[in-house]
Amino acid sequence: MKYLFQLLLLIIVGNATASSSCTNSTKVSFYQEDGSLHVNYHVSAQVKQLELVANNKVSTAIEGVKGTQLTASDNQRVLLTTKDAGRFDIKLKPLGKYINATYTPYIDLGTAHGVHINSVLPFSILKDGQRHKIDHECATLSIQRADQTQKIEMQDGFVLLNFTATSTQGSQPPVTYYINENMPAWIVSEIKGNVTKALRYYAAELGDLAFPVQIMMSFEDSEHPFFDGGVYANKLVIRFGGEAYKQFDQGAQRHLQQFVYHEIFHFWTKPQQSWIREGGADYAAAIAMLDVGLLDKQQFQSKRAEASATCFMKFGHGANFLAQGWRGRYACGLAVLSRFLPSKSDFFKYWKTLDKAGKNDLKVLSNVSQKQYPRLISQLNSQESASAALKTLLGPIQYQQLPSNFNGTSAIFVHLMAQHCQGVVSFHTNHNVVSLYNQEACSWPLEKLVYEVKALNGHPLSSKPVELLTSYISRCQSERKAVLSGETFKVELPCAW
Ligand SMILES: [Zn+2]
Repeated sequence: MKYLFQLLLLIIVGNATASSSCTNSTKVSFYQEDGSLHVNYHVSAQVKQLELVANNKVSTAIEGVKGTQLTASDNQRVLLTTKDAGRFDIKLKPLGKYINATYTPYIDLGTAHGVHINSVLPFSILKDGQRHKIDHECATLSIQRADQTQKIEMQDGFVLLNFTATSTQGSQPPVTYYINENMPAWIVSEIKGNVTKALRYYAAELGDLAFPVQIMMSFEDSEHPFFDGGVYANKLVIRFGGEAYKQFDQGAQRHLQQFVYHEIFHFWTKPQQSWIREGGADYAAAIAMLDVGLLDKQQFQSKRAEASATCFMKFGHGANFLAQGWRGRYACGLAVLSRFLPSKSDFFKYWKTLDKAGKNDLKVLSNVSQKQYPRLISQLNSQESASAALKTLLGPIQYQQLPSNFNGTSAIFVHLMAQHCQGVVSFHTNHNVVSLYNQEACSWPLEKLVYEVKALNGHPLSSKPVELLTSYISRCQSERKAVLSGETFKVELPCAW
């Protein structure tokens, strides 16, 4: 293994030398300090302005250091200006892990690894008001670690250290895996197996992909187990960390299957409305997993029921349904799409009709009725009426089919409190006791500051979730109230369903 690695390194050094035909050759060097990644650029042309391709999300992590300043940025470019012609220095603040995984830049020179790093590569220089492109072949990359300089090569937009690349032979689409050498073997084979099956499955339904796919998986030392990743253009980046993942674990395996089937579907998604894109990927994953035998019918039904219950109970109040980045989009998207497109063929047929502009996204609602369209949409965006609109979209909640681990108590109190406290959730659950906190936002007839609730409508909170939910919903519908009781009190709070 060691021999192989040295051999790879030799090839890499050979390739990394900038071609002599480059007029704007650039040396880019990375080093890490206090968790931040530093990037130094040395451009052969003595210019004072350098452009990177990076979106706004990444630009918030960039700080100029020494004489470099970040002078402009939009959703595609970041402009750096320097006092010292030809030299630019930036520092990237450590980012949240979700941004790291999907949007770059992600690098940890401490414990290995790889980077999907397009965003810090020099893109062009500005000279006499003119933009001159820098080809990636004209950039020489190196990493500084422990007083050593190691030259590196970009491969498919990844800067890689201690990774092994393998390509599948003759598959459609071609798939290249970049696998960190730390990666536990069971995870590698689990991911590869699911990726192959998911690609084949979706291609059969939606047509072949027109591009090759690259998949990078890395494993890091971490005190706490973590797992994240995402799709970016034609790349899927998956990161793991922590001892817990080193041995096979069935829970982790299930999570991985769901993750891979969801993410691979994103190769067939476009910049649609985010609830359709994410809910669609969750729904597609459930359909595919049912078909290939990773879920049985019962599990598939419970997924749908759980999504609609979660959507309604958690997000029915104060939801801004059409906002990008709204956190209810997975559950609500799955619930709405699966209600209006209940069969596999309905769903895939619908998906093929989606256009790039996202104009057709809401066609799915035409099953409700074309007339209701505008009203529904405006209701969904209003704090007061979102729950009524969601009721129309979700239909009756199939709470009888909820899985036994669905957190019924939490769902109930989210729903109840949101009605009383203007969307502010003010409770805490702990071992079958719910502590309600009296807040200014709440309009309830309570006198104490904290109430320790132990029963709902006479049912102890330790009852089965389905029992509690059934009682809560039917009492809200028939008497428009919920009865909460504890050691020394019994109160009635009005509720609507
Ligand atoms: Zn997604």
